[in-house]
Amino acid sequence: MIPFNKPYMTGAELEAIAQAHANGHLSGDGQFTKRCHGWLEERLGCARALLTHSCTAALEMAALLLDLGPGDEVILPSFTFVSTANAFVLRGAVPVFVDIRADTLNLDESLIEAAITPRTRAICVVHYAGVACEMDEIMDIAQRHGLVVIEDAAQGILSTYRGRPLGSIGALAALSFHETKNIISGEGGALLVNDVTFAARAEVIREKGTNRSQFFRGQVDKYTWVDIGSSYLPGEITAAFLYAQMQHADGITDARLALWNRYHAAFSAHEERGQVRRPIVPAHCTHNAHMYYLLFDSLDARTRAIASMKADGVSAVFHYIPLHSAPAGRRCGRAAGDMAVTDRVSETLLRLPLWLPDLDVDRVIASVARALDA
Ligand SMILES: *Cc1c(COP(=O)(O)O)cnc(C)c1O
Repeated sequence: MIPFNKPYMTGAELEAIAQAHANGHLSGDGQFTKRCHGWLEERLGCARALLTHSCTAALEMAALLLDLGPGDEVILPSFTFVSTANAFVLRGAVPVFVDIRADTLNLDESLIEAAITPRTRAICVVHYAGVACEMDEIMDIAQRHGLVVIEDAAQGILSTYRGRPLGSIGALAALSFHETKNIISGEGGALLVNDVTFAARAEVIREKGTNRSQFFRGQVDKYTWVDIGSSYLPGEITAAFLYAQMQHADGITDARLALWNRYHAAFSAHEERGQVRRPIVPAHCTHNAHMYYLLFDSLDARTRAIASMKADGVSAVFHYIPLHSAPAGRRCGRAAGDMAVTDRVSETLLRLPLWLPDLDVDRVIASVARALDA
């Protein structure tokens, strides 16, 4: 069976972990965490990067930084992972779901303004499959209405929008290093701070609401409880693993792009025959090959393809159950307008295996072709 996902390890992780072991500093914010922060700040151009134990945690920190409370509203897509909404629901805020664009499957910026109310505080965009949302328009809407933009860039590391790295555009952004993402540490994530007015408080919230980070820098002579917070930082073993991955980030991205391009070329003829639709990457975006998906004509066609591919020993999967129609989404959030694209995409999208180093892409392509021509 070709699995849907396999975490890729470069081989350099063990040496880095041995170094962390030898350093004898196992809690967070040691040498490796600092190196990861430096790498992120340099490569993504964010003002401040802070490792977290997940993207979910980084989104929760963003919700805390905004001081969201009961009744506040956050605009976000329904076609996303649950954490995008949960982070705000945990503060008592209401996720207001807006439909996605049919091309990139990202939040449809033309529908955002109609969803804004006097309670709206933020827009949380998701760069689906590592392809950027229309950030110029979204930042402009946010500015006109006094809203904060948060980027859920869980899938977007090293992708760009008009030359700017994803995660460097909104006031705050969240990355994921979960083993299903491009650059991994098992579980892991980062909060990226671009609006520096959030930077000092982000450190405090991440360190249990204390000013311990300032204490370690010698800026205060004792540390104490100064704000609300929790424990959001990963230990050094995790950071060491991640740092080793970061050293290979460009090679990983290039190798993924090569697989993505093989899929894309192979399915061009099927798209011309109207059997499937391939991903669309706008000319002003570069992407990181986080995901390859196909859109089928109907739920039925997708169901048959999954079964046919399974019989060939190829595991292909779909997502997401739209949040506006999920039990918790119905209870805690609301849809602003029609969700037609979200509903259709969630029934017709199929993700293909895309992992390193030795995925048999030709076998997957042959299996898709068999399923389509059956
Ligand atoms: C993976 C993912 C997350 C969650 O990441 P974790 O690191 O597992 O918390 C959140 N949002 C999106 C869009 C994701 O793809």
